Amino acid sequence: MAQKTVLIAGASRGIGLEFARQYAIQGWKVYAGVRTPAKATELMRVKGVEVIPLDVTSANSIAGAAWHADEDPLDLLVVCAGLYGPETQGFLAPGNEDFDAVMHTNVLGPMRVIQAFADSLISRRGKIAVISSTMGSISGTTSATGLLYRASKAAVNMVAKCAASEYGPRGLTVVSLHPGWVKTAMGGPNAQIEAYDSVLGMRGVLDRVGPADNGAYLNYDGTPIPW
Ligand code: NDP
Repeated sequence: MAQKTVLIAGASRGIGLEFARQYAIQGWKVYAGVRTPAKATELMRVKGVEVIPLDVTSANSIAGAAWHADEDPLDLLVVCAGLYGPETQGFLAPGNEDFDAVMHTNVLGPMRVIQAFADSLISRRGKIAVISSTMGSISGTTSATGLLYRASKAAVNMVAKCAASEYGPRGLTVVSLHPGWVKTAMGGPNAQIEAYDSVLGMRGVLDRVGPADNGAYLNYDGTPIPW
């Protein structure tokens, strides 16, 4: 069977690093996109991974990374880079700087990354996983905690839906995934699951989904999440 290729945007640590590690062990060709390669020391130690510069807030950087996918068509794109921003309790509007940083990373970044890699994925009838969060579920929201992050994840869910509408008819399957509450820098030490189990679950989901699931919003165990 031909070797499969995945590109992970935001692979320096946390969930993205774990995706890189697990796909490399499975024998995939792994492009691990990170904004500061020199700082991605743990990732550098993972065998079989090609670390490439990719800052999702830079159009030039995305264009540079997309060059790899022209050379080597992708079967899977995982858009994992994310920023939580201010840890607010209650309804507290962010300042301009926080707003720009979080929305740029969590919303504009995925838009640009998906657009840049879509053609490469189409040639393989590939899949796109947008790592979202249940905090982006509008119907599931009962608190204003992390207001800006919630708004960004609701927005990126729409980005995923729009990508599903645009690219589904051309053979791609696009899903929004909630990774669970994961022990990473973002999830913190009290989170419920290890990155290993989160990624193991999401890999299983990504193996199973096909065109009939295009546009779905799924938990890391495959359970549908209400929008
Ligand atoms: P971490 O904070 O551990 O890691 C965030 C990752 O995003 C880092 O690799 C970071 O790189 C990267 N990143 C941030 N900005 C950029 C950028 N401009 N360009 C490229 N990479 C960037 O978070 P997690 O691993 O926990 O989160 C991964 C994804 O999962 C995020 O989208 C997050 O919102 C989502 N998620 C996480 C949950 C959890 O419980 N942990 C729960 C629900 C969703 P760098 O090292 O350069 O900063």
